[in-house]
Parts: sequence; C-alpha cells; structure tokens
Amino acid sequence: MDELVALCKRRGFIFQSNEVYGGLQGVYDFGPLGVELKNNLKNAWWESMVYENDDIEGLDSSILTNPLVLKYSGHESTFSDPMVDCKSCQKRFRADQVPPECKKEDLTEPRQFNLMFKTNVGPIDDGSSFAYLRPETAQQIFTNFKNVIDSTSKQIPFGIAQIGKAFRNEITPRNFIFRVREFEQMELEYFVEPGNDEQALDEWVQKRLNWWRDQGVPIEKIELYNVPTDELAHYSKKTVDLMYMFPHGLEELEGIANRTDFDLASHSKKQDELNITSNVEKNKHSNSKMAVQDKKGDWIVPYVIEPSAGVERGILAVLNEAFVEEDLGDGKTRVVLKLKPHLSPIKAAILPLKKNNEEIVTLSKEVKNSLQKLGLGRVILENTGNIGKGYRRHDEIGTPVCITVDFESIEDSTVTIRDRDSMDQVRVQISELAEIYKNKIK
Ligand code: ATP
Repeated sequence: MDELVALCKRRGFIFQSNEVYGGLQGVYDFGPLGVELKNNLKNAWWESMVYENDDIEGLDSSILTNPLVLKYSGHESTFSDPMVDCKSCQKRFRADQVPPECKKEDLTEPRQFNLMFKTNVGPIDDGSSFAYLRPETAQQIFTNFKNVIDSTSKQIPFGIAQIGKAFRNEITPRNFIFRVREFEQMELEYFVEPGNDEQALDEWVQKRLNWWRDQGVPIEKIELYNVPTDELAHYSKKTVDLMYMFPHGLEELEGIANRTDFDLASHSKKQDELNITSNVEKNKHSNSKMAVQDKKGDWIVPYVIEPSAGVERGILAVLNEAFVEEDLGDGKTRVVLKLKPHLSPIKAAILPLKKNNEEIVTLSKEVKNSLQKLGLGRVILENTGNIGKGYRRHDEIGTPVCITVDFESIEDSTVTIRDRDSMDQVRVQISELAEIYKNKIK
C-alpha cells in the first residue's frame, strides 16, 4: 500500500485533498493521471452497461436529495453504525471494530451514529429546510422509475444505470481511497418480474466478475461472499459481495443485492392497490405509482437486482493488480503499471530524440495529432530529449506504447515503437502507425 500511495502522489494520480491546509479526513483529489484513469474505468463500466445492452438506460440525477426520499427508503432510521466510546483511551470506535487493547469493561453501550450528510437549502440556516447529500446513487434511480418508463417505453426486465458521487460520514475513513467520505458509485438497478429475481442475481454476479476480469482484476482474485441473513441491509433478500484482496486485506469491492420490491414499493402511492411483498412504511407523500401492468392488466411491483461498485475501490484494485516491480538483471529493476490499455491514462507518448530540433519536433507533432484524432484517449508529445527517462516514466504510469522520432524518421518516414510490457522496439512506417497503435490499444 505504501508503494502505491507514493507512486500515486509522485506521478499525479491521487493527492490528499485540501493538503495545503492540513487536509480533510476521508477525501482525496484525483490528479492529471488519476482523472484519466477514473474516467476510463467509468467509461468502461458505462459501455458495458448502457451501450452493450439495449434494455439498460442511463441516468444522471441530483446529489441533493429531498429528505422524504431517504425517510421512505429507510435510510433516516437505519443507515447508521453502532458506536462505542472507550473510557480509558477516550477514542470512539465502530462496535465491530474495537481494537484488542481496549477492555470490554471500559466500553460504553453502543449508540447509533447516522452516516448521512445534511446541508442547508435556501437562505435561512435554521435547520427548517435541509437536504441530504445522497448516501447512494440508487434512490434517485427508484424515484425516476416512472419517468424513465414513460419516456422510453421500457418493459421489464430492464435496467437503469448511473455513475456519480455518494457521501457517507464514515466514522473511520482509512486505507487510502478504500474507505472515504466522498466517493463515486457505479450502480445498476435491474428491474425484473418477481420470481425471476434469483436467477437474475446469479447472472449479474457472473457478468460483474467477467467485467472485473476485463479491467485486469482476475476472477481467481475475487471471492464471493454470501452475506449472512443477520448482516443483510434492511432492503435485501440476498446479497453477494465480491471480495478482493486489497493491500490491507480481503474486503468488499462490489455488492450485488436482491433489493426485492422494497424500494419501489416504499416510494409508491396507493400501496394498498399493489401486491407488495416487502414490509414497507405507509407512504403519505408520493404522487407516483411505482408499478407496471402485466398483460392481464394487473399491477406488479418489479423486484430489483443491484450491482453496486465503488469507483475508488475499483481504482485501488486495478492499480494493485497492475503494479509490478520487474527485475531486469544486472541489479537493475523497473516499476511498471501493466494496466489494460483501455484504462491507461496516456495511450501513447511521442518522444522526439532531440529536444527542440525543428524538423524532428514538427514530425513528432504530426504523429501526435494523427494518433490523437483517432479518439482512443490521450496522446502526449514530450519534448525532453531524454528517451531513456521517458521510457521509465511511461512504464511507471502505464503508457502502453512510446514512439520515438529521430533523424532517420525525417529521411525515410519511419519511427520506433516500443511496447511497455515486452520492451520490444520495432521500426515501422509512419503510414502503418495508426493501424498498429489501434490494435495495441483496443
Ligand atoms: P462497507 O461494508 O465496506 O462499508 P457497504 O456494504 O456499506 O460497504 P454498499 O452500501 O454496498 O457498501 O455500497 C456499494 C459500494 O460502494 C461498495 O461495494 C463500495 O465499493 C462502495 N463504497 C461504499 N462505501 C464506501 C466508502 N466509504 N468509500 C469508498 N467506497 C465505498
């Protein structure tokens, strides 16, 4: 973990937030390379959900959330952690995370601590008008259920996907970006006919394992954890957590939950007219019937399967898998990030052999522009004249190819292309470069 954290800071992936004022606990900033990596991971998720499945639609809902949404969802009353205080060391812990040094007799009875952030809305700050910062992106998917159905004519089974910020006032943010107070989630709510829910959950577990494999996190490195009944969230009939061996230990990367009809039923008006299977609070405020009609005209409240992954935890897993220190012999080593090319922050670096040589730099710019136009991600021209250093730096940040432009290039329109993983260098015609590059990146 220490090596990863150091690399992330040194190369501009991830910085501690608000660092010039001593930081703010549990929040991080993504630097020049971090923002590219994050966008690439999110795009890979979006493509695999929305573009590859015609039965899934996208959404981008607000972060500020009407308290009624989180009242009926059950978050106001249950989204909390039991906390204990130790009278000896004066510290506060989550009841299930008390260190062995603290003696049982020194601990207070557990007290509930709500994890949601509240913020004032409007000009008067007297607590009478507030909103929550959403603790999960899911709830606004449920509240938009009818809007999406009415505007897209979807029928179940279908899904709504969303990526965005979520906020939790975690008691003990820790382990770098693993547990933070401000993070991003990639969530799909997949609505199915009741009775088809169990099979749908199994299918989504498999699909999500395959997706993580495609991001460079092998299926063998993920353990499936069937959350025991007494640990299930209030809405869940069954949850399978994808557990990954992070640098600090085996923990949840993604959760795939069978949320039943709990959420749609909770947010629905005229609940009495619906055949609801979950135990929900009577809704006195909603103006929408969160149900669909079957062929016979009967109302059914769909069940929902939710694969919910954290972007930050995904990035930590992807970096952890990609980070390799290679022995090159003769006492030499290199650090290389063997990221899948579609995730690499920089896809290709163009390195002119001689800094500021007009002809070489002009040709390098032409090469850069032609590859950039292919739209596969960021291509960078680095006019430093130190090729060896350039290769090392780009190995360390995971750039799949480096292209060197030299004096010969001006004579015969060829360049050297170097592969990150094999370190092989091949001389190729510039006219062939786009094709070779496309093959390496895709
Ligand atoms: P944990 O048990 O680790 O607190 P959770 O079960 O509360 O996680 P979920 O509510 O299932 O998490 O949220 C879905 C996903 O969101 C998690 O799998 C995780 O990837 C991500 N996530 C949740 N809380 C955090 C956090 N504090 N920091 C970073 N990512 C988070």
